[in-house]
Amino acid sequence: MIKNTYVILGYGRSGRESEKHLLSLGHNTIVYDDGQNKTPNIDWSAIVTLVQSPGIPMSHPVSEAARAAGISICTDIDLLQKRSPNAKYIGITGTNGKSTTTALIGHILKQAKLNVEVGGNIGIPALSLEDLDANGWYVLELSSYQLELSNALHLDIAVWINLSPDHLDRHDSMENYVNAKKRIFSHAKSACIAIDDNYSKQAYHQLHIPHTTIASEFKNCPADIWIDASGLLHSNGALFNCNELETLKGTHNWQNVALAFAATLCILNAPHKIWEYIQTFPGLAHRQQLVTKIGQVEFINDSKATNADACEKALKTYMDRNIFWILGGVAKTDGIDLLKPYFSYIKKAYLIGEAQDRFADILNGSVAFEKCSSLESAIAKSSADAKFENDAVVLLSPACASFDQFRDYEHRGEEFIQIVRKINS
Ligand code: ADP
Repeated sequence: MIKNTYVILGYGRSGRESEKHLLSLGHNTIVYDDGQNKTPNIDWSAIVTLVQSPGIPMSHPVSEAARAAGISICTDIDLLQKRSPNAKYIGITGTNGKSTTTALIGHILKQAKLNVEVGGNIGIPALSLEDLDANGWYVLELSSYQLELSNALHLDIAVWINLSPDHLDRHDSMENYVNAKKRIFSHAKSACIAIDDNYSKQAYHQLHIPHTTIASEFKNCPADIWIDASGLLHSNGALFNCNELETLKGTHNWQNVALAFAATLCILNAPHKIWEYIQTFPGLAHRQQLVTKIGQVEFINDSKATNADACEKALKTYMDRNIFWILGGVAKTDGIDLLKPYFSYIKKAYLIGEAQDRFADILNGSVAFEKCSSLESAIAKSSADAKFENDAVVLLSPACASFDQFRDYEHRGEEFIQIVRKINS
């Protein structure tokens, strides 16, 4: 019997694209999704492969049943590589900065007029991307979940940004998380790796493929490309000033810039052109996004900052300005204690959502604050206060999840943009 049936586990956007793709090739599919069918009754003897959505853990009963039956597991990224085997692939991973680095690499290569498709974990299912031939480049954001599940990932350039403890609920231990991430190098032809944190340094020491090292922690350490304390990027004796980058502010973004620079240098070999292209990057929505400037006041949408760690990056970026800070929503367990060193830079805080009382207790005595009934009221109050200050920013950097008041962080950011634009009109 020729096996011709694939099981698709998880019927979100990437699951639907996988189904469409497999049906177009003449395969049969069985779709399993917790929201739809409850008791999977699968005859594994007829199954070729399980295509598992990265959002679903290995401990899911269908995934466990497949492994017990000796069925291979893959992701939509593996199917893409089979569908477009001659194209070139860049994969990007890291704990933070994946989307920014992925989008920036895509932008640079598009500016250089290469045939480029950008997708993966950035929110565009891999199989929805156009077919590319040997002249085309896929630029794919890869999460630790995708890397853990992927069985045949072959990258031309593997990009590693950083690593710190995250997603340990799913991976069980830091060791498992690091091992999942390191799979990006398994069959890669070359790598660009930042060696700023200790986990990344360890991964670098185990690399056996040609690589470019990156250091963005201001030290003249022995890295091929590095950024000094004044924000100058050093590459082969040439210097590029990161302070010029309007849409990539903050030292965390400079790390992303250095990696995108390194990865695209491997392809274009034209450092000054690459720098020109980086300067035209429009920025990603909801990540320290400059929405508008009204009078002297800049309005920044950093809705993607759903925890204190991400919010810290924004406060650090703007700490030499007068910050009018909108925060709140559904607090993470570790709250905002991490942000205390930045409290002296805050002119006033505007609290929204469920976390209001908890955050008010933390701010009390250190930062002037006001509880607000809605995002709209927080924007009205902060913009009224900010217009009397020089060099002011109204910063939405909530340090919280959004689901008490919004569908997701994107919805929260869109609302911020719309309300701010209304003030301006
Ligand atoms: P990811 O896709 O990995 O979640 P993003 O590019 O979407 O990363 O950025 C999300 C947030 O993470 C940003 O708003 C910023 O606060 C933080 N961030 C971005 N790049 C870095 C970096 N290189 N190091 C640390 N934090 C970063």
